[in-house]
Amino acid sequence: MFIINNECEKNANNKLKSLRMSLIFFLPPIQKINSEITRRAGVDLYVLRLDLMHPLVNGNKWFKLKYNLLEAKQKNFTRLLTFGGAYSNHIYATAAAGNLFGFRTIGLIRGEERLPLNPTLSFAVQQGMQLVYLNREMYRQRNTAALEEYLQQHFGEVFIIPEGGSNLNGVRGCTEIIADMMAFDHICVACGTATTLAGIALSLHEGQRAIAFPVLKNGAFLAQEIENLLTNYLASGLPSPYSSPASWELVCDYYFGGYAKVNDELLLFSQQFKEEHDVPLDYVYTAKMFYGVMDLLKQGFFRKGNSLLLVHTGGLQGNIGVEERYLRG
Ligand SMILES: *Cc1c(COP(=O)(O)O)cnc(C)c1O
Repeated sequence: MFIINNECEKNANNKLKSLRMSLIFFLPPIQKINSEITRRAGVDLYVLRLDLMHPLVNGNKWFKLKYNLLEAKQKNFTRLLTFGGAYSNHIYATAAAGNLFGFRTIGLIRGEERLPLNPTLSFAVQQGMQLVYLNREMYRQRNTAALEEYLQQHFGEVFIIPEGGSNLNGVRGCTEIIADMMAFDHICVACGTATTLAGIALSLHEGQRAIAFPVLKNGAFLAQEIENLLTNYLASGLPSPYSSPASWELVCDYYFGGYAKVNDELLLFSQQFKEEHDVPLDYVYTAKMFYGVMDLLKQGFFRKGNSLLLVHTGGLQGNIGVEERYLRG
């Protein structure tokens, strides 16, 4: 529904026949969650399964890549270059999408090479990605003009996508995640850079509200980031489905110690959620948001009759890495 029947997509496809995205992705199923908690709270709870759109390229990372890939094709680039940590969902998705759509890919990885490669990076290599390691100091300069110039000199003609696909093309793709799902009044999403949240918020209708759950410590700073993203996006002239002020809020209490940190409670919650509802969660993002929503339901945060849509943003590939590190202690 978002990918196939979309004017922008059709126009783009006319010009760019080789990016036949609509033939490649499944429409994400919407799954109802019935539990004692939702029954007591008197709300309807649904999950939008972006994790099931494609076996390799899925979740919000696909939506953030989509218009970056289209722009790269349009400008006749054959190579993509991007950044990420050693367990990055974005590196994984970029490697797979590059392979799928005929781009060579270069991944600049934060830190030093460790052998054997972890599952994320060995997958990336299998998909044809060339890995280059940047020490932390250089990595920190990833968004500077100086590093960009250096990379263009070093690697030649490459289309550079920022870490996480988090640019205005990324926001644009994310405006297509929810588009016109009027049955839901609250859309809940886990939040790293808030690019996904910004795209979702821009696409909501009156009466709908996006709730963002930062997965990092002290997530309140994201409020300013979100304002900046929305302002920049609206000023950019890129298509924006609805012009009414975006309605969103941040819930900062469910970060579980910080980015990629987990504890027994979160692991247990994920395990139980999977067993009861057949929805696997990733520990870095979706498990924290789902936990947060279930906890808020118990506290009466939502009203009776509310209809919630939880966006499953994918990221399941990262669980192996988290489990390994956690169990090692
Ligand atoms: C990257 C990621 C997010 C966060 O997206 P942002 O746009 O950076 O807020 C959420 N969930 C999953 C599974 C991710 O991989």
